[in-house]
Amino acid sequence: MNTSDVFSFQKGWEIIDKKKKERVFEFCQDYKQFLDRGKTERKCVEEMIKKAKLNGYKDIKEYISGKEKIQIGEKIYVNQKGKALALFVIGQESIESGMNIVAAHIDSPRLDLKPFPLYEDGELALLKTHYYGGIKKYQWTTIPLAMHGVFINKNGEKIDICIGEEETDPVFYITDLLPHLSKNQNEKKLSDAITGEGLNVIIGSIPCEDEEIKEKIKYNVLHLLYEKYNMEEEDFLTAEIEIVPSGKARDVGIDRSLVGAYGQDDRVCAYTAFKAILNIDHPAQTAVALFADKEEIGSVGNTGMQSRFFENAVAELISLQEINLVDLKLRRALSNSKVLSADVGAAFDPNFPDVLDKRNAAFLGKGVLVSKYTGARGKSGSNDANAEFLGEIRNIFNNQNVLWQIGELGKVDQGGGGTIAYILAGYGAEVIDCGTPLLSMHAPMEIASKFDIYMTYKAYNAFLDR
Ligand code: MN
Ligand code: MN
Repeated sequence: MNTSDVFSFQKGWEIIDKKKKERVFEFCQDYKQFLDRGKTERKCVEEMIKKAKLNGYKDIKEYISGKEKIQIGEKIYVNQKGKALALFVIGQESIESGMNIVAAHIDSPRLDLKPFPLYEDGELALLKTHYYGGIKKYQWTTIPLAMHGVFINKNGEKIDICIGEEETDPVFYITDLLPHLSKNQNEKKLSDAITGEGLNVIIGSIPCEDEEIKEKIKYNVLHLLYEKYNMEEEDFLTAEIEIVPSGKARDVGIDRSLVGAYGQDDRVCAYTAFKAILNIDHPAQTAVALFADKEEIGSVGNTGMQSRFFENAVAELISLQEINLVDLKLRRALSNSKVLSADVGAAFDPNFPDVLDKRNAAFLGKGVLVSKYTGARGKSGSNDANAEFLGEIRNIFNNQNVLWQIGELGKVDQGGGGTIAYILAGYGAEVIDCGTPLLSMHAPMEIASKFDIYMTYKAYNAFLDR
């Protein structure tokens, strides 16, 4: 047997030269800025539309209202309620013949304020939260937190809120118990030590001077919110306010090889998909980058992938090319499509070696991660891509020098998870999970390798540029 018969995935840092390493690092500088600006799904959509317009993208509404037909090579975006987004580059082949789609999500686990959040207790003013997505609750205590979101005032105006990101801003905070008094807490299960109703955020502690007022600290907080945003207590009812970790994305490691930041699930795939489609001009097949909301809570709602917003967008595109929209054409467009479900995966963690099968695990620095299936307990809920499609993907990546690896989410029966892959597969499209491997997924600070981030971008670019 020849040694070349022994297969193993390559180590990225070992094979790139100095110049390529510089390009990788430069790419990640811009990525970190995107993370800092895009702490919520709304901010991500805003940021991407701004850049897309500079790159020649036009709102689909302009075509619809102008009764303008779309031409080959045109770049179009569809904004779904400011929380989800689709970008299209019209291909030389008809849409009916299928699209190449990279589909990521831009929502991340966080704490949402309850509709009636503000209260006073123990000489403090606090905010009640309801967590969003799969979090380990204890990780959200004793770290600096920021507040982002919008509320609709009585005049129907949308007001943006952002506190806790500037150097000079105050931050917010959730307490944990001091070790001296943690006897009972220490005996609890990790998942029970901090409860959902215990995730209350400190927002103030100075009382107002008015003698007549009963809850003076709460009142003072309301007064300050009114000063800053003209916000009244009732406006919390018409708000979407998210509590997220405060602060900027950072390099991790003395060699600066890793990025540490909040929200890399799944903004790392969103950013790389976005950068990839900005590079695409005159593809053969229509190229699509899709950024969905609500993945972390089951892809529900009218901005989640289970809604029909993407299907409707494709229907609009077809109707802008043809006189009559034939339902069959829409169905063909979707079922002939090929999709990279662009979501992060778990990388091997030397602190927790027991949860992954080392022979089928992803490692940081070995490139973009392709997962044939996700799911849990016997692949339940998984898309499980076809071998034929895997073969096609392998050829695309190998021909374009994309360093990639295969990995399972975890050991059989250890747990699992899902992505939006199954939803697009429901239309008959070929779908495979393909994204960046992470350490500490869903934690307030997640870790990714700069090499893998760059390879994710290269992979999406190679896939879309066909
Ligand atoms: Mn994800
Ligand atoms: Mn997730």
